[in-house]
Amino acid sequence: MNIYDILCMPLQEVVPLGITVVFSFIFGSCLGSFLNVCIWRIPLGESVVIVPSHCPKCNHKIRWFDNVPVIGFLALGGKCRDCKAPISPRYIIMELLVGALFTLQAVNIWHNGVEVHALIAVIILLSVAVPCAFIDVEHRKLPDKLTYFGMISGVLYNWVFIVHPAKSHPDSLLLSLIGLAAGLIGLGVFAGITGKLMKKRTLGAGDVKYAGFVGALTGLPGVLVTLLLGSILAIAGYLLLRKKYFKDGYVPFGTFLGIAVYITYMLLWTRI
Ligand SMILES: [Zn+2]
Repeated sequence: MNIYDILCMPLQEVVPLGITVVFSFIFGSCLGSFLNVCIWRIPLGESVVIVPSHCPKCNHKIRWFDNVPVIGFLALGGKCRDCKAPISPRYIIMELLVGALFTLQAVNIWHNGVEVHALIAVIILLSVAVPCAFIDVEHRKLPDKLTYFGMISGVLYNWVFIVHPAKSHPDSLLLSLIGLAAGLIGLGVFAGITGKLMKKRTLGAGDVKYAGFVGALTGLPGVLVTLLLGSILAIAGYLLLRKKYFKDGYVPFGTFLGIAVYITYMLLWTRI
């Protein structure tokens, strides 16, 4: 049996639940550590290739064992080993957050008897949705680097694996391309119409590409549920938080879409 065959087996037949929880949390927190770097560097146009990190204050190289997610931060008490400058809690928050988000999806996949390769879909999902959610709040944009990566890897994932409900590779690829087109055209037309009616820009090109990514990864039902749920969350979020956060009327739709696509995937794994 080769790796590909194992990836196509239900996760619960490959590893017990306990091991799934431990390893997905470790993996998720490492992914969170990397995505934290993406959130800082992508809006500035810097490379996200991992270079040895340095303390921003004393410039000492961070030792590999201090860089271990969560544990490194706790062992150092949140301070640089050399100069004792406080380390931003953002590091450990991102590691814990993505660790938890990944674990929750993995447990859901395990319970519903979904294939191991679904974990790859979760990696793609979190790699786009988490940085976009934070970057949209801070910089009010969804970087092309992330949405294009999402569209391409979403299509490739559905082509390489036969993703439910498809029965063959060409079927699976076709469903992904239909989802991609539905996301791009659907939200593009919606943005055009609402923009004309309200005589101002309602959605950015980044939002439209983001819908394309969701469609490519989750297919037509996934993108429809995500857009509906994301719109409801965005309206509810705007009404509840407008006095505090959205005074000038900008709503980070990418952030709400991120929450929506995460929840949508939890529902899709149940295959109802
Ligand atoms: Zn230092």
